[in-house]
Amino acid sequence: MNRSLVLKLTLAFLLVSLVGVALVAIFSRVITVREFDRLVSAQAKNSFTGEVLDHYQTHGSWQGIETVFQSRTNRRPDPPSPPDGGGRKRSNDKGSREGRETPPTPPTPIPQFGLADQTGQVLLRIEPYRSGQHLSAEQLAQGGTPLEIEGQQVGTILETGQPRPPNALEEQYLARTNIALLIAAGGVAIIALVLGLALARTLTRPLRELTGATRLVAQGDLAQEVPIRSKDELGQLAVAFNRMSADLAQANHLRRQMTADIAHDLGTPLTVITGYIEAMRDGDLEPTQVRFEAMHDEAQHLKRLVLDLRTLSLADAGELSLNRESVPVQDLLERVAAAYRHQARQQNIKLDVLSAANLPHIEADPERMVQVLGNLVSNALRYTPEGGQIRLAARSEAANLWLTVQDNGSGIPPAELPHIFNRFYRVHKSRPQSNGQSGLGLAIARALVEAHGGTISVKSELGQGTIFIIKLNLRQNEKLDAV
Ligand code: ADP
Repeated sequence: MNRSLVLKLTLAFLLVSLVGVALVAIFSRVITVREFDRLVSAQAKNSFTGEVLDHYQTHGSWQGIETVFQSRTNRRPDPPSPPDGGGRKRSNDKGSREGRETPPTPPTPIPQFGLADQTGQVLLRIEPYRSGQHLSAEQLAQGGTPLEIEGQQVGTILETGQPRPPNALEEQYLARTNIALLIAAGGVAIIALVLGLALARTLTRPLRELTGATRLVAQGDLAQEVPIRSKDELGQLAVAFNRMSADLAQANHLRRQMTADIAHDLGTPLTVITGYIEAMRDGDLEPTQVRFEAMHDEAQHLKRLVLDLRTLSLADAGELSLNRESVPVQDLLERVAAAYRHQARQQNIKLDVLSAANLPHIEADPERMVQVLGNLVSNALRYTPEGGQIRLAARSEAANLWLTVQDNGSGIPPAELPHIFNRFYRVHKSRPQSNGQSGLGLAIARALVEAHGGTISVKSELGQGTIFIIKLNLRQNEKLDAV
């Protein structure tokens, strides 16, 4: 395909050049022939005029002009010769003989001009007039140019008005012009071919690189980068390709990482449970209430993890079903606060609900929204030291509703902030995963908020605290509900 594109581009360049050269050749030939003919005719007429006037002035009349011109025409049939290569032409008969490389065979002379005297009688005949014929003033005015000496008309030069057939020298000149044009066209074609080939190869180079890189991606080598050689469409394509391939590599890495994380997170509680069960079965451990509680906790953790994974996979598939209903925002906040107040009190952390007056109702799945806010509050409780404060707040403006969960806890390092919504991402990976810390809490919060048509973002300062901001569009929620 690539080779054929080079071929197509080369042929296109060649075709355009050839059409251009052909047009120039045709125009220049037409113009050359016409202008050359005009020049030759004008010079022949000047020469003829000069000669007949010389004759008149020498003899004082037209007497003997027929004899002179008849003998001349027999001797030299050609009009003044054409320009020889440089475009200049000789204007008299002698000159036309000099410098000729190959003297042409004189054809039967065809007189170009005729002459009538002052009375209108034809002295030197030219078609369609006869010698001795008397021409009317009208005929003279139509087909002739008056000849004057000192303001007095002494005769009229007669012209046929018909195009004169070119003589041998003129034909030679035109043939040489044609050859020059052909050579120029050939030269241009060769240059166009070479340049076209070079240009086509240069233009298709990024495409060749992209094709190679795409093949490697298809073979599973995802992290490919092609050089960006320009800012045009091909350059933009290269930028998009590089971004796509980096994203693919990143997604692939995350997928692998996630599989490992899932295996690890499922494995740990299962190891604990099977360990207890085996020890009890073998009689190594007594089946006590405390041990059953420990096994139950681990099983609960497993259940939560599996539920979280299911929620995320449903969100990925766009199949997360929301039981939307009109919920007072204030109630949502109070429910979440009530659920965590006891734990907060135990940790000596103040948990407040701060909300603006007249908060609207929101069309949302209350259980899911409580889950989102619950994940944020439980994180805040985890990362806020004793004596700290957690604030749940809501504010609405125009069509938007903002829900925030703010704490004055440890904060998140700036480098970690872009990743904390990723699945299984934990800032302190070494920390033992107690209290259901799976690294899925924020990923689920984001999936659920997005399922409600909203967005979630975070601002944090190390040592100062963290604020999670949920933005929901009240109108969009209404619209979604209508659908
Ligand atoms: P986890 O289940 O580990 O809490 P999350 O997805 O809920 O996973 O959170 C991801 C990471 O974000 C956590 O490991 C934690 O380091 C960080 N994080 C989340 N909330 C807070 C917060 N309020 N303060 C400080 N760090 C937080």
